[in-house]
Amino acid sequence: MSRVAKIDENIYCPKCGKHEHQVKHGKNKSGSQKYRCNDCNIDYTPEPRPWQYSEEVREQAIKTYYSGVSGRKVGLLNNFNKSNVYNWIKKRNK
Ligand SMILES: [Zn+2]
Repeated sequence: MSRVAKIDENIYCPKCGKHEHQVKHGKNKSGSQKYRCNDCNIDYTPEPRPWQYSEEVREQAIKTYYSGVSGRKVGLLNNFNKSNVYNWIKKRNK
């Protein structure tokens, strides 16, 4: 192989741990870049979603929302995106 691929230290195969032979391979539902390891033929998302908040944080946000604060305001108060708040409420109501 003559072409030298750029190696991103953050991108590595969860199975074989290689940084080489990792190619972009579409996006997942939440819009994160997915990668594929050409050695193992597996797809993966390198970074877990940054909006993985603890149960407590979510509960608190939902409580605040139900106390009459808008989703947007809840997001601002807790420093996360308002769509997170709506998602949690949606999930909870299922
Ligand atoms: Zn691999």
